[in-house]
Amino acid sequence: MPDETAEAVAETYRLLGTHGFCFGGSGNVSCRTATGMLITRSGVTVDKVEASDIVATDREGRPLGNGKPSSECFMHAEIYAAYPQARAVIHSHSDACTALACLGEGLPAFHYMVVGFGGSDVRCAPYTTFGTPELGRLAVEALRDRSACLLANHGMICHGSSLRDAFLRAQRLETLSRQYLLARSAGVPRILTAEEIAAAIKRYETYG
Ligand code: 13P
Ligand code: ZN
Repeated sequence: MPDETAEAVAETYRLLGTHGFCFGGSGNVSCRTATGMLITRSGVTVDKVEASDIVATDREGRPLGNGKPSSECFMHAEIYAAYPQARAVIHSHSDACTALACLGEGLPAFHYMVVGFGGSDVRCAPYTTFGTPELGRLAVEALRDRSACLLANHGMICHGSSLRDAFLRAQRLETLSRQYLLARSAGVPRILTAEEIAAAIKRYETYG
C-alpha cells in the first residue's frame, strides 16, 4: 500500500471498518506529508470513504483547501509534532480497547506482546472532551516511549512508521485488549515480572 496518498489513507480507514474496529464515522486516519498531513474528513463513514474524503492540512491541523478535517486533527498534529518517527496515526473506538478505556485502565504486561508497544504497559490518557487540543496534549503524554495509548471513556490512538504499520499496531492492541478482558473475566491474570519484561524487550530487539 503506497503511503502519503489520499487513496492509501482512505483504504486504511476502510480496512478498520472491515475488521470491525471502526463503525459509522467513529475513528480517523492520517499520514504525515512534507507540509502537514492527509486526514479523513470529519464525519465520513468507513463504508463510504473515498480518496475525495481525505483532507490536506498544515502541521497545526488547519485545512489547506476545501473539506473539514477530522475533529481529532489537533490530536494527530500534536503526535506528529512530538514524535518525529510517527509517519501515520490511527484513532479508533474498537470494542475491547474502548471497554478497557471505559474502566479508566491501561493494558498491563499480562502477555509478553505488550512490550511491543515500547515498554511494560500501554497507558490510558485521562478523559477530556473529544476534538480538543487538550486531548492531543494528554495523548502525547500517555504516548511517551510508547507507540499506542488508550483514551479514557473514548478509545485508542497509535502511530506507526507507515499506514500499514499503524494498522497492524491498532489490530494488535485490540486483540491484546480483548485477550486481557477475557482473562480477567475468567480470573486474575498474572502480570509479568520486571525481569520477564526486560527479557522480552531484549528478545524483541532481534525478533522478525
Ligand atoms: P471525526 O469524524 O471528526 O474524525 O470524529 C470521529 C471521532 O472518533 C471523534 O473522536
Ligand atoms: Zn474518537
